[in-house]
Amino acid sequence: MTEKRVGVYICHCGHNIAGTIDVEEVALWAAGLPNVAVARDYKFMCSSLGQELIEADIKEQNLTHVVVAACSPHMHEPTFRQACERAGLNPYLFEMANIREHASWVHPNDKEAATDKAKAIISGSVRRVQELAPLEPLRAPIHETTLVVGGGIAGINTALEIANAGHPVVMVEREPSIGGHMAQFDKTFPTLDCAACILTPKMFDVGMHRNIQLLTYSEVEQVDGYVGNFTVRIRKKARKINTELCTGCGDCWGRCPAKVVDNGYEAGIGFRTAIYRQFPQAVPKYPVIDVENCIYYKNGKCKACEKFCPTGAIDFDQEDEIIVMQVGNIVLATGYDLFDARRIPAYGYGRLANVFTSMEFERMTNATGPTGGKVVLRDGVTVPQSVAIVHCVGSRDKNYNIYCSATCCMAALKFAHLVKEKTDADIYSFYIDMRTAFKDYEKFYHRLMEEGTHFIRGRVAEVTDAARIPGEEGKLIVQAEDTLVGKQRRISVDMVILMSAMEPKADAKGVAHLFGIGCSEAGFFTERHPKLDPVATMSDGVFIAGTCQGPKDIPASVGQGAAAAARVLSLIGQGVVEIEPVRAVIDESRCSGCRICNNLCPYHAIDYLEEEGVSRVNGALCKGCGTCVAACPSQVIEGQHYTFDSLMSQIEGLLYDVGDHQNGHVKVMEPEPV
Ligand code: SF4
Ligand code: SF4
Ligand code: SF4
Ligand code: SF4
Repeated sequence: MTEKRVGVYICHCGHNIAGTIDVEEVALWAAGLPNVAVARDYKFMCSSLGQELIEADIKEQNLTHVVVAACSPHMHEPTFRQACERAGLNPYLFEMANIREHASWVHPNDKEAATDKAKAIISGSVRRVQELAPLEPLRAPIHETTLVVGGGIAGINTALEIANAGHPVVMVEREPSIGGHMAQFDKTFPTLDCAACILTPKMFDVGMHRNIQLLTYSEVEQVDGYVGNFTVRIRKKARKINTELCTGCGDCWGRCPAKVVDNGYEAGIGFRTAIYRQFPQAVPKYPVIDVENCIYYKNGKCKACEKFCPTGAIDFDQEDEIIVMQVGNIVLATGYDLFDARRIPAYGYGRLANVFTSMEFERMTNATGPTGGKVVLRDGVTVPQSVAIVHCVGSRDKNYNIYCSATCCMAALKFAHLVKEKTDADIYSFYIDMRTAFKDYEKFYHRLMEEGTHFIRGRVAEVTDAARIPGEEGKLIVQAEDTLVGKQRRISVDMVILMSAMEPKADAKGVAHLFGIGCSEAGFFTERHPKLDPVATMSDGVFIAGTCQGPKDIPASVGQGAAAAARVLSLIGQGVVEIEPVRAVIDESRCSGCRICNNLCPYHAIDYLEEEGVSRVNGALCKGCGTCVAACPSQVIEGQHYTFDSLMSQIEGLLYDVGDHQNGHVKVMEPEPV
C-alpha cells in the first residue's frame, strides 16, 4: 500500500476566520496529525497564489490527499478540486473542512473554543480524506433543446437569446397567451414608454421564431432525468379551438352571450366573454373557451360561437393533450403573484368602492383597458379630485412580507405622473422610505416632486369611509403619521391606490419540488449563490430568471433572462456534461431484491431488474442523497465518496483527536459491527 501523505491548508479568509480562530496554532497542531505531510496557513486559499501553493506541494511533496480548512464546500469545493486536478491528483481525494460557517462565524466571542472546534473539524476531515477513493465523473451528451417555463418578459428574453443563437427552445406558458404581467401595464418607469410597444414585438418574435415551439395554455406535470437529459411531460389544456383552422377573426367572442368578470388580465375591473382572447395583441392569436362559464357546458345550449365561426374552428369535444419530450436544460421564469390587499382590512379594499389595487389602476389607466384609459372612480364616470397612493402594502411589514418589493415606489411615482397627466387631482403619496435605486430612477422622483405630488413619509394606519361626515360625503379618509414632522395626518381623498407587494406564485413550492430546486423563507426560488451564481440552482441544468427568484423590475428581469440563456448556451456549447460521480452503488451479488430502495429514491434512480431479481442504480439519475443507503435492510448499498468507513473515520477524528494526538494517545474507536 502506498504511503499516505496528506496536505492540510488553513485559510485565514482575511479576518473572517483568522479574527476568531488561531490559524497559526491550528496549522502547527495539524502538522502533528498522523499521515499529515505538510500543514500551512495562508491569507486567502482560494486566491491564485493559495491554489498554486497546493499545486506545488502536491507535486513537490508527493501528496496523496488534500484537506482545505476554509469556507463552505458550496463556495469553493470546485475551486480546490480543480487545483488538485491541475497538479495531477484525482479531485475526489480532496476534502473541505468548513471552519468558517461551522466555527469562526458561529463562535465569534470565544477564540479558544472556536480554535478547538476548528481542530476537531480538521481532524475529522484528515481522517476521512484518507478513506476516499479516486472517482471519475460520468459524461453524458447534452440534448440541444431548452425548456423555458413561463412566458413573461424574463422567459421571453431567455427564449429569444437561446433561439437566436440557433438552438431549439420549447416555451411552456400556463395562460392562453404569453406576455405575463408586463402585457397588463400601460407605461413603464422611468422612461414612460408604452409597455405594449416594447413587449409586443418580442412576443411576436417568440410566436414566429423557427427555433421556438410555443405551448400556451399548458403546464409541466412531470420532470425526470438530469442535466443534459431531462424528460418532461407537459399537459396542453384543451382550448376547444382547432388552431389549424382558427384565423383569430373574433367573430366568436363577438357573438358569445356569456359575460364574466375578467379577474385575470383585467384585474377584476373589466369583463370578457366565455370564449375569449386574453388581450388584443395576444400570442398566439387564438381564443380559448372558459368551460366553467360557457353556457353550452352548463346546459347543452348556445353554440353561438360554433354557428358564427367562419372556419369551423370550434371543437367542443377537444381533450387535453399530453406531450412528452427530451430537453437538455430548463429555465424557470414563472413570475410572481400580487399580494391580496383584502388581507389588510384597515385599508378597506373590497369594502370601500374607491380603494383600488395597483393592478386595477394599471388596467384603468391603460388605453386598451376597461375605461379606455380614463382615470375614474368605481362608478365609471366621476373623475377624482384627490388621490392617495399608499406604498408598501404587504411589503416591509412583519405581519405579511418582511422584504421590500423593490418596484412599487417607482410604480407609485409612475401612477402619480399618470393621474397628474389625466386629471387635475391633488396627489398624496404615502411612503415609508423612497426606494429609487437604479439608473435615472432618482431623477424621476425629482420630476414628480416638481410636478407637485405631495410626498408624506409615514405608513398609512387606515383608510375609512367619510360617508356620514358633513362636508366630506363620498370621501375616503387616509390616516397616517407624518414621521418627518412628527404629527398625525388626516387627508380626505376621492380615490386610494394600494401598491401591493410582489409575492411568490401561490404554487411556487410545488413547482420547486417538481423541478428539484429550493425556495427561500419568503417562498421565492433559491439561487445557487446570491451574488456569484444568481440564475443557477442547486439542480444542475435548472436555471431561474425574473421575479420567481425575488422581486425585481423589468430591466433586472430582462438581464436575468439573458444571464440564464448564457448559462444554457455555455452548456450546449460543451456538447457533453460531466455528472458528479458521488452516487450510490448496489452490490447486486448480495441484493435480496426486496425493492425497499426503489420507492424511496426521490429521483427515481433505482430500477428493479426482473430477470436478475435485484435492484440497480442509474448512476446518471442518482444524486447521491444517501436515502437508499440508509434504508437497505441488507446493507448492500454504498454511497460512493460517503462510504461507511469514511464517515466513521470522520466521526472518530471529530471526537477523539483534539488534545490527544500530540501525546501519542490517539484513541481509535472500533465501530460496532452492524
Ligand atoms: Fe377563430 Fe372561429 Fe373564433 Fe374566428 S370565429 S376567432 S376563426 S374560432
Ligand atoms: Fe360563448 Fe359557450 Fe355560447 Fe360559445 S357556446 S358562444 S363560448 S357561451
Ligand atoms: Fe415599499 Fe417602495 Fe419597497 Fe415597494 S419598493 S415595498 S413601496 S419601499
Ligand atoms: Fe436515489 Fe439512492 Fe441515489 Fe439517493 S443515493 S438518489 S436514494 S439511488
